[in-house]
Amino acid sequence: MVNRQPVIAVIGAGIAGLEAARQLAALGYKPVLIEKSGTTGGHVAQWNRLFPDMTPAADVIEPLRAQTAGIKTLLGTEISAINRLKDEYNIVLSDGSSLLCQAVLFATGFRLFDASKKEEYGYGIYDHVITNRDLERWFNTREDRRIQQPKAVGFVHCVGSRDLKAGNTQCSKVCCITAIKQAIEMKEEFPDAEVYCFYMDLRLFGKKYEDFYIKAQRDHGIHFIRGRVSEVGEAIDGRVVVKAEDTLSGRPVKVTLDLLVLMAGILCNPDALRYARDTGVAVDDDGFLKSRDNLAAITESSRPGIFFAGACTGAKTVPETLAEARSAALAIHQYFSNRA
Ligand SMILES: Cc1cc2nc3c(=O)[nH]c(=O)nc-3n(C[C@H](O)[C@H](O)[C@H](O)COP(=O)(O)OP(=O)(O)OC[C@H]3O[C@@H](n4cnc5c(N)ncnc54)[C@H](O)[C@@H]3O)c2cc1C
Ligand code: SF4
Repeated sequence: MVNRQPVIAVIGAGIAGLEAARQLAALGYKPVLIEKSGTTGGHVAQWNRLFPDMTPAADVIEPLRAQTAGIKTLLGTEISAINRLKDEYNIVLSDGSSLLCQAVLFATGFRLFDASKKEEYGYGIYDHVITNRDLERWFNTREDRRIQQPKAVGFVHCVGSRDLKAGNTQCSKVCCITAIKQAIEMKEEFPDAEVYCFYMDLRLFGKKYEDFYIKAQRDHGIHFIRGRVSEVGEAIDGRVVVKAEDTLSGRPVKVTLDLLVLMAGILCNPDALRYARDTGVAVDDDGFLKSRDNLAAITESSRPGIFFAGACTGAKTVPETLAEARSAALAIHQYFSNRA
């Protein structure tokens, strides 16, 4: 491969950053990965098994880590500022050093909606209300005193998504299928438990997602209740009482649960919005980074030399993120080829 000179900073070493860096290295570039946490893999490294095939998350993360082992990776490194120069960007790092780059790839991913902001669901107030992230952590560690042989478990969809009051009207796209995946996993762990999903509509757009839904009902007897949860309270024994209206039957529903799981939605990582301000990159109405063209140039920003990959432009699945990361690497290659 040709040894090319430009410095390419990849901000974020989640699966988007790792895959893009891997592809850039294969094209002969020397990307530098900047990761603010102490480890690579981003959110996927926190998940247990992945829809749609229940693949262990480690099967995605470990090969990516191995294939990027030779790439310069600055772990535990924050960015203090990004200064836009004429054709270049000067990135000031938290250790006081700086990196002059000819291209920057934002792969900063997402943050989960803070479920405690929806006080009516009781996260942080009632002991037995947890989030999708807490449940993934339990699948990985088996450590959470709140999960002890539950007899009844509920999942609330659209927490902080499709919700004007929460400031996010967008659909987070992956949480319907994640709820179904986690509901099935709970039934596998606790076959005698009754499991309920409270949803507005089910958005099951991906390959095999509908099969998952059918399996959840047919093989596991999971109850799907269409309707917004109107009230969550705590019973005297510490269990959670959930009231909703089943809009299909027109009847009110009241169930008492040992565990209520809130499907917190996906928002843009706030760091990315700060860097966008610093570099003059546009932000979309939905609060994610704005692509130059949502059809033909999703990985390109409005500024020359700045590119995107993964969830920084909107909620994405793992295969979508990986495909976009490859596309971003090619867009960067094309950018330098056109300038040569
Ligand atoms: C509960 C849940 C379960 C899911 N399960 C599945 C599943 O089963 N199957 C599936 O296909 N998809 C699943 N997804 C979607 C999946 O998590 C995303 O597709 C994936 O995480 C996107 O990767 P990313 O690299 O774009 O972002 P992230 O995973 O968010 O990674 C971003 C990285 O950038 C770093 N970073 C952020 N800001 C900075 C900064 N300022 N400087 C340096 N580094 C920074 C972060 O520390 C992180 O390492 C799930 C999502 C959720 C919420
Ligand atoms: S994917 Fe489902 S749970 Fe998530 S925001 Fe969209 S409709 Fe709501």
